[in-house]
Amino acid sequence: MSDVVEAPAATGPPLGRSQPAAIPIAHRLAGLVTAPVVEVLLAPRCWITGAALRARDGGLAADVRNGIAAGMEQSYCRRCGLTLGLFVTGDYANPCGRCATRDLGVQRLARVGAFDHPLRDLVLRMKYGRRFELAGILGTFLGRTLVREIPAQEIAETVLAPIPLYFWRRFWRGFNQAEELACVAGKVADVPVVDAVARRRHTRAQALTDSAAARKENLRNAFIAIAHRAIVGKHLWLVDDVCTTGATLFWATRALRRLPMELRPKSINAAVLCVADKPGDAAVAPLALPGR
Ligand SMILES: [Zn+2]
Repeated sequence: MSDVVEAPAATGPPLGRSQPAAIPIAHRLAGLVTAPVVEVLLAPRCWITGAALRARDGGLAADVRNGIAAGMEQSYCRRCGLTLGLFVTGDYANPCGRCATRDLGVQRLARVGAFDHPLRDLVLRMKYGRRFELAGILGTFLGRTLVREIPAQEIAETVLAPIPLYFWRRFWRGFNQAEELACVAGKVADVPVVDAVARRRHTRAQALTDSAAARKENLRNAFIAIAHRAIVGKHLWLVDDVCTTGATLFWATRALRRLPMELRPKSINAAVLCVADKPGDAAVAPLALPGR
């Protein structure tokens, strides 16, 4: 026979407490009636498909999230960021067979996926559609990527540094997408975010330049490193939305390497949302974007 004595069913409120007021009950009933209406009228919609979602779906339909997750499983070169195909070599200097085609300057690169649907559409909408809210969704994917790529023993000595916009462009756009992404990813990965690089001059929009050489020339000496105590001896990860030819990362890294030895980070790496596998992939006219 069990020793557990079943408690008698409650027949009323505990002694010493007042009866529940009618207002909470009425409030609850009203909520039951209005909740479905509010759900229909103000339901969040998927940023890509436009399908109605529940609040917990986080702004993306299940198939879109699965598409991004599948992209995260794609194998890519940790040095140049390009998707690995059939031509993987055993050459340390050129492990993927394409490393020699670009110099990012960074030691390691972590990416969420290739510059392809659905990541491409989300990034373009965030950047040119000025929807900074998307950084909350995309930054979470970037944070998870960092958790996976950074060895656990390195997390405590890791810092994120967003690629800066020139103040004029930041003013017109209203936000710096790299900064927003870094803040969210930093929270997910439990890593601090610091301003380690600044823009020293205005440059033409990279998407409007037509060749890898022009993109690299456009950003020549565009960055200057900030001697920040928080980066000294740390594994620094530059954060950006898209890596196309790698010119941005190259010049930002070069600026950091000009710091006096005692002020430099231990390693300079890059964490980006997506990498454009084919030249010209990211040169998409902002006006061609679908509206929302
Ligand atoms: Zn490579």
